[in-house]
Amino acid sequence: MGKLLICDPVSKVALDAIRELGVAMDVRDSITAEELAEVIGEYEGMVVRSRTKVRRPLIDKAAKMKVIIRGGVGLDNIDVDYARDKGIDVRNTPAASSNAVAELALGMMFALTRHLSAADASMKAGRWDKKKFKGTEIAGKTLGVIGYGRIGRLLGAKAKALGMTVIAYDPYIQHEDIVPLDELLARADYISLHMPHTPETHHLMGAAQFAQMKQGSFLVDAARGGIVDEAALYESLAQGHLAGAALDVYSQEPPTDEPLRQLIALPNVLATPHIGAGTREAQDRIGDEIVKLVKEYLV
Ligand code: NAD
Repeated sequence: MGKLLICDPVSKVALDAIRELGVAMDVRDSITAEELAEVIGEYEGMVVRSRTKVRRPLIDKAAKMKVIIRGGVGLDNIDVDYARDKGIDVRNTPAASSNAVAELALGMMFALTRHLSAADASMKAGRWDKKKFKGTEIAGKTLGVIGYGRIGRLLGAKAKALGMTVIAYDPYIQHEDIVPLDELLARADYISLHMPHTPETHHLMGAAQFAQMKQGSFLVDAARGGIVDEAALYESLAQGHLAGAALDVYSQEPPTDEPLRQLIALPNVLATPHIGAGTREAQDRIGDEIVKLVKEYLV
């Protein structure tokens, strides 16, 4: 039976379930990169979230490693191809957080269109700006979903149930909702992004695309930093072409660079700190998936 190292926080329920499997496990969920490099050679399995970086020099030291388990979706923190070349499997828990992200995107659409965060800030400042916060309804509007995989399709189904027309763009799947990108950009009142960040999707949403979007439309990005050209988004919002944008992900996390701070500070931007998967239910499902993978590889 293999020995497991937990490098990032994992739910207590999942840790208890792994102990019940009889797997020898060290929980060091705030381990530093230096400490990790010293001990990695002892383990057959490791569990990481997004904090721990698993790069080539570390993989070179992981002589006994059979599997790297990433609780969550993105594999940006792991040199996946290099690990696989060394015979180490890299597994993640892709479906566990889909509903949480779809619900966040929907919540962002409501929050943008009804000015919820500005209205709340105004109340807290003692004002009663009833007329200022006139909104629009999402029923009867068109949602354009870019990236029609797990999260995109879940969002699409929820939006249809709320009376929206849903169109989507995704070059890799066939679905009756799919339309060409140009058509989606021109027709949608809301656009929500749900594709991975790859060289192909880098700055897929830039000045040209924002210009093609309808005057007064909204953008939601709970996918990955780097897909949106943030400087171009700033321009479009500042000029009042886009009515608003909700962002959960950034090219730099946490965002400290001045241009990014200026984007976040715009009154028509709603910003959250990468909380898409941050629901109790998603974290529990991630835990369940981790336990299944530990059982598959180490028991
Ligand atoms: P998925 O793999 O099920 O779907 C992604 C879809 O994007 C696929 O259908 C794929 O064909 C499509 N795609 C790829 N390249 C594209 C392109 N150039 N243009 C349009 N579509 C393209 O993934 P998912 O589980 O739905 O997750 C989607 C993304 O959400 C993930 O890549 C991840 O980065 C992000 N995510 C964010 C959070 C968060 O906390 N905000 C949490 C989980 C996932």
